[in-house]
Amino acid sequence: MMDTKVALVTGASRGIGKACALKLAECGYDIAVNYASNDEKARETVAEIEKLGRKAAAFKADTADLKAVQDMFREIQKTFGQLDVLVNNAGVVDDAFLLMINEDSLSRSLDINIKGYFHCAQAAALKMMSKKRGKIINVSSVSSILAVEGQGVYSATKGAVNSMTATLAKELAPRGITVNAIAPGFIETEMMDAIPEDKKADYIKAIPLGRFGAAREVAEAVAAMCSPAFDYVTGQVVVLDGGLSL
Ligand code: NAP
Repeated sequence: MMDTKVALVTGASRGIGKACALKLAECGYDIAVNYASNDEKARETVAEIEKLGRKAAAFKADTADLKAVQDMFREIQKTFGQLDVLVNNAGVVDDAFLLMINEDSLSRSLDINIKGYFHCAQAAALKMMSKKRGKIINVSSVSSILAVEGQGVYSATKGAVNSMTATLAKELAPRGITVNAIAPGFIETEMMDAIPEDKKADYIKAIPLGRFGAAREVAEAVAAMCSPAFDYVTGQVVVLDGGLSL
């Protein structure tokens, strides 16, 4: 019997998450597509995965909400029966200089970008432990290692993602589960829409490869991290930023 693998990609209705979902489907995975609110876009992702000949289903759940995440994992178990890969990707950015940081936005960023990753990692590890096999990929950001004005909150959340990656890697290694992170630089998705054009031109000048990255390029790296090439790698942060952080 063929050993079909199942991946959950959070925030897979758009952007990097959608690209990861499609790439992993191309690699033979069935895909659980998580999203927050955009039903139409989530349906499109599912349809595109099905066109690739893989099984897919959409799960609307706010990853910041523990109960919603636990319910989602129960539904994923009913639909797919297993889980081999978690791509913790659902995240938000709301840039503000220190004195302009708003309490609601601060809480929301911490809840989604940090607590959401823990909620999903915890539920996924519980599933993976029984098989003594699994891979967790946390989508971090180059902002975790590079100071960008206005990104105090965002960079703090992504720094937390890097530290949790190392700690969880150590905790879960005896259970056969690897945990790694990928830290993209500027990737062309809707998340970059808020950046003014003149700022974008400045950023491009600072990137040695001279261009922004594509979501597809992040997805290729995530797929490599899910492949046997990364079986002996755990607790690492792979930076994919066109050289920006050098
Ligand atoms: P995006 O285009 O804004 O897409 C965000 C995705 O996350 C959407 O699918 C959205 O669902 C989902 N989402 C947001 N909050 C959620 C929640 N609470 N629960 C479940 N799903 C939620 O973002 P992106 O650019 O692809 O970014 C994806 C990840 O990459 C983030 O973690 C981000 O920090 C990281 N990253 C991005 C860049 C970049 O330049 N784009 C660079 C470095 C790191 P709905 O469609 O339903 O709203």
